[in-house]
Amino acid sequence: MSQLDLQQKLAILADAAKYDASCASSGTSKRDSRGGKGVGSTEGMGICHAYAPDGRCISLLKILLTNSCIFDCHYCINRKSSNVRRARFTAEEVVRLTLAFYRRNYIEGLFLSSGIIRSPNYTMEQIVEVARSLREDHDFRGYIHLKTIPDADPELVRLAGVHADRVSINVELPTASGLARLAPEKDGARIESAMKDMRVSIDDGADARKRYRTAPSFAPAGQSTQMIVGADSASDADIVGRASTLYDRFRLRRVYYSAFSPIPDASAVLPLRRPPLMREHRLYQSDWLMRFYGFSPAEVASAADPAGMLPLDIDPKLAWALKFRESFPVDVNRAPREALLRVPGLGVKAVDKLLQSRRWRRLRLDDVARLTVSVAKVRPFIEAEGWRPVSLTDKADLGAWLKPKTDQLELFA
Ligand code: SF4
Repeated sequence: MSQLDLQQKLAILADAAKYDASCASSGTSKRDSRGGKGVGSTEGMGICHAYAPDGRCISLLKILLTNSCIFDCHYCINRKSSNVRRARFTAEEVVRLTLAFYRRNYIEGLFLSSGIIRSPNYTMEQIVEVARSLREDHDFRGYIHLKTIPDADPELVRLAGVHADRVSINVELPTASGLARLAPEKDGARIESAMKDMRVSIDDGADARKRYRTAPSFAPAGQSTQMIVGADSASDADIVGRASTLYDRFRLRRVYYSAFSPIPDASAVLPLRRPPLMREHRLYQSDWLMRFYGFSPAEVASAADPAGMLPLDIDPKLAWALKFRESFPVDVNRAPREALLRVPGLGVKAVDKLLQSRRWRRLRLDDVARLTVSVAKVRPFIEAEGWRPVSLTDKADLGAWLKPKTDQLELFA
C-alpha cells in the first residue's frame, strides 16, 4: 500500500463507507463550493445523517477503518479480490479526525465500520480502541455507532457496546442459502449468536440502569442490522419474514434494507442489474407496517404477488386493503385504533388525532381530510358522519383509480 496522507485516506475510506445503508445520506445531486461559489458540499469526506433516539437529526463522520479485507464476499466492493485502491487508518488517526471534525462543528458523532484485516479479533480490537480512546482519553460525549465483527471474540464484541451508543451486526443476506453462496466465509450461526449475546448485554445494561442510576450505560441506542436486497433470489415475503424474526428474537431497533448495487469487476454469481430502488422503499414501508401498524409478517406477505413480491406501483398497505376489501369500510367514529391503522392514507399520528377528536363530536369526511395528505385515498375505506362509500369500496378498478399519478408535472404550468 503506497503512503497516503490523511486526506487521501479520508477520501477513500469515506467513499468506501457509503455502501453501508445503516445511516444513509446518499441519493442527492452532486454539488460543491470549490471555486469560491456558494457554501457547503454534498460530496466527499463522509458526513452522513442519522436520527438519535430522541428524534434529533445528527451529522456523523461515516468512515471505514480500512477497506482492505481478508474475506471475499461477492457483493462487496472491498472484498479481497476487488481491484480498488486500499487505505487504512490507525485507531489514533480516526480519534484525531473525529475530534477535529467535532471541534469544528462539522459532526456530532462517528459511524465506524471496517473490512477485516489480519483477523476478526485484531480488527475488532482496533474498532473498540477508537471508541475507548474517544470516551476515556478524550471524554468524547458525541454519538458513536460501531459496526461489529461477529467472528471476533464475544468479549471484544461486547466491549463495543460498552463505549458505543449503537452497535450493529449485519446479517448481510435474507436467507442462509444466499449467505452460503455469496459470502461463504461468513457463518450465519455465528452472526445470530453475536446478536443474541448483544441483546442479553443490552438487556442487562438496561436492568442495571433501572436499579442503580450510576450504572454505566450499554449501547443505549440498541442494535441494528442490514440486509442486502436483490443480490440473491430472496423474495420480499422472505425478507419481511426474516426481518420480523430478527426483531422478535434480538429486539433490534432497526433493520436496514440496502438495494444491491453492481460493483466494478463483479463476480459472475451476482445479478447484472440492481433491483429497482422502489423495492427497497416498499420494504421499508412493510417494516413500518409491522412495527407501528400491527401487521403480522404473514399479512404483509399476503399483499404480495404469488412469487412473494410486493407491488412497486402502490404501497403495501394499499395493496393489502385492496386484497382484503371485506375489512372495509371502517367507521372513523366507532372503530378501534387497530382497525383505523389499516386504512390506507391514515398514519399513526392521524389515527391518534382522530381518536382524540371523536371523544367530543362525530367526525365528518372533512375532519378526516384535514389529517391526511390525500382524502381520495382514504374515502373508499372509511365511513364518517354523512359519508358512506356505498359501492366505491368494491369498485373493480379501485386499484388503478388510487394508483399515484406518475406524470412529470409542468414546472411553470
Ligand atoms: S467481510 Fe465485510 S468488508 Fe470484507 S468482503 Fe465481506 S462484506 Fe466486505
